[in-house]
Amino acid sequence: MAYFDNAATTRISDAALDAYNRASTAWWGNPSSLHKEGLKARKRLEEDRSEIARLLRVEPSTLTFTSCATESDGIILENYLWAQQPGDIVIPAIEHSAVTGYARLLKRLGWNIVTVDAPGGFLDPKEIASVLTERTRLVCCMLVNNVVGTIQPVEEIVQVVRKQEHAIGRKIHVHTDATQALGKIPMDLHALGVDSAAFSAHKLHGPKGVGLLYNKDAGITALSRGGEQEKALRPGTENLPGIEAMTVAIADAVEHLETHAATYRALNAIVRQRLSTCPHIHFVTPEEHSSPAILTISNDKLPSEVLTRMLYDKDYCVSSGSACSNNAKGHQGSILMAMRQEPSIAKGAIRISFGTDNTTEEVEGLCDTLLSILGGA
Ligand code: PLP
Repeated sequence: MAYFDNAATTRISDAALDAYNRASTAWWGNPSSLHKEGLKARKRLEEDRSEIARLLRVEPSTLTFTSCATESDGIILENYLWAQQPGDIVIPAIEHSAVTGYARLLKRLGWNIVTVDAPGGFLDPKEIASVLTERTRLVCCMLVNNVVGTIQPVEEIVQVVRKQEHAIGRKIHVHTDATQALGKIPMDLHALGVDSAAFSAHKLHGPKGVGLLYNKDAGITALSRGGEQEKALRPGTENLPGIEAMTVAIADAVEHLETHAATYRALNAIVRQRLSTCPHIHFVTPEEHSSPAILTISNDKLPSEVLTRMLYDKDYCVSSGSACSNNAKGHQGSILMAMRQEPSIAKGAIRISFGTDNTTEEVEGLCDTLLSILGGA
């Protein structure tokens, strides 16, 4: 079985799994307990936070351990549910459902949700600037799109938001969902200038059920959900084995970024070159300004679900549908429509996403299989 659905989830690395197992017995105390086992666990938890902060080049106090990126996104969006005076929130149509899913609730509470499209896969900072008002309180802007891999101009968007902030004399929070960016493209949170960012460990060969929120906006407070852990932003006993394994996974992703990215680029280039011979295949992911780890293609012969199933029958895992969090029919389609793709492109689209353990042979096999199904050299 060759697995090309790494944007949905990755196989945990041996090093991360070892770290998980070691931590389960070495630091099993509750970090909130005041006895020896608790203090040992607390110390290790803070060491992990410091290590991740060092790797991401941010302050440890800006990092909150969560259960996944969905929860990290939710902590930021939930913050606005209790506001006395609702205003505007900008949510691009290409965001993951972890972000767009809040629109309904926020609307019911009186918020004006401003949706912007991303023609060709990219948000336009000028368009974002044009929708900002004196009522704008939050702007969301993912860093790497999970459906096609396009890298969004987050730094430029932050700049236009800061200009507006200056004009209205009030803070506008900028949140980036960076789940598909960490370990795939160079990322500097300070340079991006965002207020907060969301991450999930299982997207980078870490374990499931653990994620991270970066936040430097003191105005973000938690919904009252009980428990004081993680400054009450994410209450509940901390998942120390998961955090320990995530630390190892992030270290590998950050310290070997160039090597991993070179592997993704090489595999991606093989697929592009081999499949360019097929007249029925169209490359949806732009070659420039996209993550090398994601390549979405479309075909005019078979619906994506059928093609995905045919590949599965030949032992290849790729994704149709929105893939990473849900395969709900139409979700990927609506994201592609927000990128102003033709409906026929959305219908035949599949996502190929690479991981650190994919090989050239696997990629060649995938291309042979696709060409034998769709026709081409
Ligand atoms: N945000 C993006 C951009 C994603 O690709 C995913 C993938 O599922 C998520 C959020 C949600 O991640 P998780 O399911 O780990 O919360």
